[in-house]
Amino acid sequence: MAKETKNSKSTKKEKTIVKVEHNDEKKEKYGLDENRRIVKIEDKGDRKERAKSKRIFAIVLWVLAIACEVFGILRLTDKITWLDKVPFVIGAIVLDLAFFIPGSLLWKKANHIDPISEKNKVGFWCWNNLGTILSVLAFLPIIIFVLTNKDLDKKDKSIVTIVAVVALLAAGISSYDFNPVSSEQLNDAQKEVIAKIGEDKVYWAKTSKKYHVDPDCPAFSRSEEVYEGTVADAYERNITDPCRRCIDSLEDAEKHAKEEVTEKTGENKVYWTEKGTTYHMDPDCSALANSDKIYEGTVEEAFKAGKVAECKKEQ
Ligand SMILES: [Zn+2]
Ligand SMILES: [Zn+2]
Repeated sequence: MAKETKNSKSTKKEKTIVKVEHNDEKKEKYGLDENRRIVKIEDKGDRKERAKSKRIFAIVLWVLAIACEVFGILRLTDKITWLDKVPFVIGAIVLDLAFFIPGSLLWKKANHIDPISEKNKVGFWCWNNLGTILSVLAFLPIIIFVLTNKDLDKKDKSIVTIVAVVALLAAGISSYDFNPVSSEQLNDAQKEVIAKIGEDKVYWAKTSKKYHVDPDCPAFSRSEEVYEGTVADAYERNITDPCRRCIDSLEDAEKHAKEEVTEKTGENKVYWTEKGTTYHMDPDCSALANSDKIYEGTVEEAFKAGKVAECKKEQ
């Protein structure tokens, strides 16, 4: 069973160090859940066609949004006289926004399904952030009409202005693509994966920020479901960074870690805690100061527990 020893060196808190039992069973390597399910992503058809229909739908929604703005302006200028002016104009701005944002989200999605080339930098930026550019057209004119309107009293004018400015900001920010991808980036990523494993096949979990080439990557140690698809499938879900650890091969990473630890400390012994993915060479590392329970074991045991990252403070 696990032995407990007290460690009362420089850190204030008393810690319990739990020695991990040696377990050589290969099937338990890296502590992966054997019931883990690998879910294959369905092929939803031609990417260009799917992106195209999303783009068309996005443009239709943007046109409807701008039509709402036009009705708002017509009511403001008494070209139409339906309902009370202020509620009508506010309603028009809210509807404008309600059409505009889904349009932009579709547009961004389409660009992740079928990315364009980044050779033309300006064109690339404008294409990916077309929603942000159009948000000016969808909200700024009505703001100008409100501010220059002579019939509205001060209070109504400021209420309508605030609503329109907030709508402009919401539309502009939600339409901006903070992680745009290019066809070149996708191509390189596909090449890298194929060079590594011979086919375009990667894995990710629901909360993954990176895609993996190894379905047994320790990053999945807590995942019940792992998704399998192409690099393009991962890109479509905004997962655009490779896990360096499994692209560079886990076996190699473990070997290097073991060599490094042995060289630096004179023995194959590291420490870790329940949380996170980091192992430490120093049991008194400041990153461990707040942990009541610290595990001690070899690099292999640390990797098995999913602790595959070297402590940044000790590098
Ligand atoms: Zn990985
Ligand atoms: Zn450390």
